[in-house]
Amino acid sequence: MSSNKIIIITAPSGAGKTSIVRYLLKKYPQKLDFSISATTRKAREGEVNEKDYYFIGEDLFKTKIHNNEFVEWEMVYEGKYYGTLQSEIERIWAEGKTPVLDIDVKGALRIQERYPECSLSIFIQPPSVKELKKRLESRGTETAESLAARVNKASYELSFKDHFNHTVVNSDLQTACAETEKLINTYTDQ
Ligand code: 5GP
Repeated sequence: MSSNKIIIITAPSGAGKTSIVRYLLKKYPQKLDFSISATTRKAREGEVNEKDYYFIGEDLFKTKIHNNEFVEWEMVYEGKYYGTLQSEIERIWAEGKTPVLDIDVKGALRIQERYPECSLSIFIQPPSVKELKKRLESRGTETAESLAARVNKASYELSFKDHFNHTVVNSDLQTACAETEKLINTYTDQ
């Protein structure tokens, strides 16, 4: 029975959670579906609107806040909004699948508070802040300023790991994927 459950994958940016989420979605397309967040940040090269995110303007984002369309929203980085739409969760439940949310720590805490009975939260922990900085640098998507902001935020977010149901340390991506997969299968099959 997979309906009306929510899987939350959270981590500091650069911990590898998006790679883990992609692995899970590819392996279990009949069971899991990606909850596409809305954001006001610009699309990166290769990102597709309505697949990776709903890339929308700030005015529309604020209208959606006003209309209570978000189950949670956050200004994740200075001036950039991100939010989970109620309609996304409903869309995926209506397909008989379980939504997988790839969201920041504060958003994850909110979802957990809102759906305590039907959510599983997994915190992906980078092996160290130093390693995380290295990963973000090699991704090449950040300016010096946004890199520093992400690293600072990551150190802060690491202090929240005990608030989540499980922690998976991502030293080796394959091992972390397998561990996360096992936790999810146990949860969705119960
Ligand atoms: P990025 O800009 O790298 O795609 O995402 C930045 C951070 O925002 C990541 O930690 C990502 O998981 C988080 N994020 C993405 N969507 C949402 C959302 O809907 N709500 C919240 N709170 N965070 C989100």
